[in-house]
Amino acid sequence: MNLATKVLNKPIGSYVATLPFIDIKKYFYAEYETQEDEEMIGLQNGDFVEIDAGRIALNFYCKKCEDSRTFMSPDRLHALIINENLISIDTFLQCPVCKTEIQVWFLLEVKDLFTEEPKVKILKRTEKLSKNVSELEENSLGIYTDLLEKAMRASREGFGAGSIIYLRKVFEQVTSEVAKASGIPTTYINRHGQKKRKNFKDLLTEVDGQCSIIPAEFSNNGYKLFGKLSDVVHGEYDEDIALEKFSAFYRLVTGIIENIKSKEEFKSAQQALGLSEGGEENE
Ligand SMILES: [Zn+2]
Repeated sequence: MNLATKVLNKPIGSYVATLPFIDIKKYFYAEYETQEDEEMIGLQNGDFVEIDAGRIALNFYCKKCEDSRTFMSPDRLHALIINENLISIDTFLQCPVCKTEIQVWFLLEVKDLFTEEPKVKILKRTEKLSKNVSELEENSLGIYTDLLEKAMRASREGFGAGSIIYLRKVFEQVTSEVAKASGIPTTYINRHGQKKRKNFKDLLTEVDGQCSIIPAEFSNNGYKLFGKLSDVVHGEYDEDIALEKFSAFYRLVTGIIENIKSKEEFKSAQQALGLSEGGEENE
């Protein structure tokens, strides 16, 4: 598979082997070599070269179309050779329907760049969204929409632990709102007669037991995933693992919010979470 499908469209992670994207029959790395083959073109640091990477495709919410869209890059992409192991790709992505565009920039670390099997790792990906494009539809996930957007952006840009901390905060606050709405106390009296906050895992177990807020996909491992993510927050996991787990945790948290949105009995939690304001939308 090509560079876009295998690397650029994926969350930031470790090295991935991909198809060659520089035409190695035509180009060679000439920073330290003199040209012997007349047919070949030598590339030096600072040169731009056309690459065959496939099309970059990332999902955003298009405000003009009022819908989620897969924004696509042009077919032809160019890379700047910074050195033999570092390249950057600067391009734009467009909404396939209304052609609204955003800019993206990748810094890639590459091993064996001029071979049949280059290995690539994203060091940095930055997107410049426009006023017509956002990660999520405004208020689609209630008062936590902004925090969830921040989480998504942090993960896209490679800040693993940061992205998990945002998600965890939303997860805890949503769970405690559902507890309140369902009359489940968030505190208990310990044996010294002091009022204490329940630990989050106990509260979540109780809330889910009574209200079934955890999406089916996670019914068997929702707690396990949460436990792993606690380790991330407590610094026992590295950034790469946090980034790998991000999309599952994101689906868990947004799945809970969607469940609350769809259930009549959570009216007061819907209000507290800003999920019912502005009238009902027909979908
Ligand atoms: Zn659009």
